[in-house]
Amino acid sequence: MKVILIEPRGFCRGVQRALDKLDAALKSGQKIYALNEIVHNKTIIADYLKKGVVFVRDIQNVPPQSRIVFSAHGVPPEIYRQAQARDLKIIDAVCPLVKKVHREVLEFTKKNIPIIYIGHKNHEEVSGVYGEAPQNITIVENLDDIPRLPRGQRRYAVLTQTTLSAEDTQKIIAELKKSFSLIEPAQKDICYATSARQAAVRQTAPQVDAVIVIGSRNSSNSVRLKETAEAAGARAYLVDSYKELPPEIKQYKTIGLTSGASAPEYLVQECYAFCLA
Ligand code: SF4
Repeated sequence: MKVILIEPRGFCRGVQRALDKLDAALKSGQKIYALNEIVHNKTIIADYLKKGVVFVRDIQNVPPQSRIVFSAHGVPPEIYRQAQARDLKIIDAVCPLVKKVHREVLEFTKKNIPIIYIGHKNHEEVSGVYGEAPQNITIVENLDDIPRLPRGQRRYAVLTQTTLSAEDTQKIIAELKKSFSLIEPAQKDICYATSARQAAVRQTAPQVDAVIVIGSRNSSNSVRLKETAEAAGARAYLVDSYKELPPEIKQYKTIGLTSGASAPEYLVQECYAFCLA
């Protein structure tokens, strides 16, 4: 079997920055709480649980004056207010590229321009961005949502979740443009790490029998990598580690191997060794 290690892959700067902040906080020796998963990766969360990090879904479960880390995906402003009310010490690990989208929401809202925000409703990043101005944002998840948009409004600013499929998002924007006049930020919201990893998979997929994506199923950018490989014609597998691969994997002659932006490289190397064994 031949295995092509697809590049770029693995940790983006936002994830690395979030993990560095959590590591630095742990060195203080104090108890550290984290609101939601610091990054969406099962292995990383298991490691930090062993190191004593307490993950919570509700900030009300954090004792007053404790230290709390906000994850790379961001939180709505209401959560900052609740943290202040509880006198929590915030360690802000929100990715700067997610914060950029929060700022765009505030800028367009200040100018009274309604926003169409393309993203997945149940994702933490989307809840955080939406929370900046719920009265001014309409979330669009897919093409089916477009006919449901109010027709009275002709002009929208369009923002997106950072980890979407570049191709699917372009299709949605093209469809929106048929009915609405759109203002798009000069710098697009899908981040460089997401676009570059998808482009590399798109390029490699036609040369291989299958693509393995190391990443967790709740990791948006990892799921998009699997979909990108499939759209390019390859069989694709999204697994946390090589141990989840089906036996059929050994039948392929050529495999492309990549990982989501929150998957540690050692899991890729383990999978590489397994495929070649
Ligand atoms: S995937 Fe992009 S937006 Fe998300 S943490 Fe990484 S760099 Fe930031």
